[in-house]
Amino acid sequence: MAHYVDLSPCDYFTSDHGGKLIAVGWLSRGHAYSKGDISAEVFARLHQLLVNPWQPCVAMGAHACDFHRFTDGPCQITLDNVTAQLGVSNLFVPSGDRLFVAPSLILHYIDAYEYSPPPEFCDAVMACPEMRSMDYLKLVRKTAPAALFSGNQTQM
Ligand SMILES: [Zn+2]
Repeated sequence: MAHYVDLSPCDYFTSDHGGKLIAVGWLSRGHAYSKGDISAEVFARLHQLLVNPWQPCVAMGAHACDFHRFTDGPCQITLDNVTAQLGVSNLFVPSGDRLFVAPSLILHYIDAYEYSPPPEFCDAVMACPEMRSMDYLKLVRKTAPAALFSGNQTQM
């Protein structure tokens, strides 16, 4: 899948992002990434947000974990009997005037490869309003580049 260094501008969805879309967790084979501890609370919250995440109108293809030699790796991750799909969706997390964007595979990267996302991302995950709540959608609408909303508006 596409690779971005953590906290770099993400042009995956649109080139017209105005520096407001910030990549987190876009790991790829052959690229170094940050390893370390992450609290179970952050992982659980991340998982919760990724069960049915809001998606922009811009349709993108699925990605598979890049680290597997012969397969595409897992396509879902289950925590406390709740399952989040991997590889299809992306997670948008508002933070001030920026919007972090992480692939759903971030759950697998943390779980399997000791990936440690940047602290500011973890803070934003813990502070994130409930997925698809009015508060969440307002924050996304406020910070996201307009190009994410072009086309069908009913997804808001
Ligand atoms: Zn993998």
